[in-house]
Amino acid sequence: MNLTPSYMKLSDTGELQSRAERMARMLKKCALCPRACAVDRTSGELGECKAGAGIMVSNAFLHFGEEPPLVGMGGSGTIFLTHCNLRCVFCQNFHISHIGHGEEVGADELARMTLQLQAMGAQNINFVTPTHYAPQIVEAVAIAAERGLQLPIVWNCGGYESLPVIRALEGIVDIYMPDKKFFDNDS
Ligand code: SF4
Repeated sequence: MNLTPSYMKLSDTGELQSRAERMARMLKKCALCPRACAVDRTSGELGECKAGAGIMVSNAFLHFGEEPPLVGMGGSGTIFLTHCNLRCVFCQNFHISHIGHGEEVGADELARMTLQLQAMGAQNINFVTPTHYAPQIVEAVAIAAERGLQLPIVWNCGGYESLPVIRALEGIVDIYMPDKKFFDNDS
């Protein structure tokens, strides 16, 4: 069985870097999620999620409490992103998603974090609440792939992405793990 993460092939052809550049343009009239705020995050405007042009990270660590298939022997290399586009009132990570606990890091620093988790034995890179930072994360993965990242990418999200984002992530994300938050009894 070939376990090579799909983004490594895109990195080899240069498509991953091109994808990151194309996705960065999405921040100028943000519609990364169905809220479609249409704000220019690159000029400091903020939408419902309160996320800016940079990436904010609350925490990064080896998580042994994730779903067992993601934990394996070495733990899931979990990176909690700050802010959230879904903003559930019952959020268990309220201080991160609503209040904004975290520090701003650049794509280069985020790439370094993924490589550090890999060196610590992580089985995957598990981005928690990633959707509102999709372009910046792809940029970081492109940098990390060039520096030797070889772990599958987990998209641990609220399931609230726009279709263009899902299409843009094709071949980059290996495992989707959306939480089912709400549903309609009639559908
Ligand atoms: S990601 Fe944030 S700014 Fe962009 S559309 Fe969603 S809530 Fe609005």
